[in-house]
Parts: sequence; C-alpha cells; structure tokens
Amino acid sequence: MSSVTLRGVRKSFGSLEVIKGVDLEVGKKEFVVFVGPSGCGKSTLLRMIAGLETISAGDLEIGGQRMNDVDPSRRGIAMVFQTYALYPHMTVRENMGFALRFAKVAKPEIDRQVNAAAKILALEPLLDRLPKQLSGGQRQRVAIGRAIVRNPEVFLFDEPLSNLDAELRVHMRIEIARLHKELQTTIIYVTHDQVEAMTLADKIVVLRDGLVEQIGRPLELYDDPANQFVAGFIGSPK
Ligand code: ADP
Ligand code: MG
Repeated sequence: MSSVTLRGVRKSFGSLEVIKGVDLEVGKKEFVVFVGPSGCGKSTLLRMIAGLETISAGDLEIGGQRMNDVDPSRRGIAMVFQTYALYPHMTVRENMGFALRFAKVAKPEIDRQVNAAAKILALEPLLDRLPKQLSGGQRQRVAIGRAIVRNPEVFLFDEPLSNLDAELRVHMRIEIARLHKELQTTIIYVTHDQVEAMTLADKIVVLRDGLVEQIGRPLELYDDPANQFVAGFIGSPK
C-alpha cells in the first residue's frame, strides 16, 4: 500500500491556479524529493498534504485514507520548515516535548519520547539549553526532534537546510539520510539543491509551473531526462 497518494490534485488562490493536476504515489518508507524552480508549487503541494492549505480539486490519501478534509493534527504527518522557529523561552527538552504536552500526553511518556529523539539526533547533552545557546545546525536538529517525537507516519521537509552554511548542509544531509534509515519512515522533501536531491532521494519529482514534469529514480533522471528542463535540474545535458 502506498503511504501518500495524490490524484488530480489542484490548487487555486482566487483566480490563480498554482497546482494544475498532480498525480503521485509515495510508497511506504520511500524518500521522495520535490525539485523545481521557485514558485512552481513545491511548498503549496507539501502544505496541502499537511493540511495547511485546502485542496481545490482531486484527492489526497495518507495511509489509504482520504484526507482532503481531515484536521492537520489527525493526518499522521509532521512538517519541518526552512525557518524553524523554536520557542525562545523554552529549553530544548521543552521545545521537543511541546506538541505532546499540548496533546495532553502524560509526562513520563513525553520524557521517554524526547529522550529517544534526543539520542537519535545527538542532542542529549543539550536538552537543558535555550535555543539562543545553540548553533544553527543544533537548532535545526531540535526542529527535526520536535517532528520525531510526534512519531509521524510521514515527514514533510520544506527546504530544511537552505538557511545553513555549505559545510553544515553536507553534515545535516548525512544526518537526514541516517534518520530515514533509522526511523524507517516515509519522507517527502523539498529542496533547491541538486546534490541533496541526488543523494537523498529514492525518487525525484520534477515540478514545473504546477505540474509534474518527470518522476524517476535519481540516476534514471540523470541518464535519461525527459527534456531539457529536467536535464537543467538534474545536471546531465541532453
Ligand atoms: P515554491 O515552493 O515551489 O517556490 P509555492 O508553492 O510557494 O512555490 O508557490 C506557488 C505559487 O503559488 C506562486 O506563484 C506563489 O506566489 C503562489 N502562492 C503561494 N501561496 C499563496 C497564497 N497564500 N496566496 C496566493 N498565492 C500564493
Ligand atoms: Mg517553497
């Protein structure tokens, strides 16, 4: 069974149609990467999957269930954004546990989840620090930790590394690959970075102006791009 399915999904803002009929199957435990130029609709697609935008037409299924009108908190997803606003007055531990506390999960269970996530992300020595006492990479790990503690079926990442410097980006890319392996979870990941797409993806979705241009494994797209546009993104001239 697939994890996330889109069928004929469309989105309009007023009279402007920005997603023009997208079909996509994301398999369980698959790492799918969306690439495409700025404004092509990557974030809007993720936000529709997350339930942060309504779907104008078509169907969204997560785990085999129709989710078009389901509340974001009941979709089994967690999203990590480019700008990972942590609560400045809360410690790392409190930031990571906040969603669970909000959901009225019992304290020992929150501690258990936070400790497990902290271990995966090597955040254990930092649990009592405040966000201002962390580096950019450490803050982004906390943002990922907040998503992990919710134990989602599907992780959505919207350009999570684009605010980090080049060296840290490479480091975090390796961390995210390891995370995917360790958690055995489905990830849909938006990036501008061709290397990120090539190294992380099981499957790359190339978007252009609200439509899917091509879907394939990284080397398929690299060796056999459908057209010049895809070649321009994946880097092998046709
Ligand atoms: P990407 O993430 O690929 O850069 P977006 O999904 O953010 O693209 O945006 C796709 C298009 O939808 C853009 O033209 C953008 O201006 C438009 N758009 C996004 N959100 C809104 C909104 N809330 N209202 C109106 N237009 C929007
Ligand atoms: Mg975007």
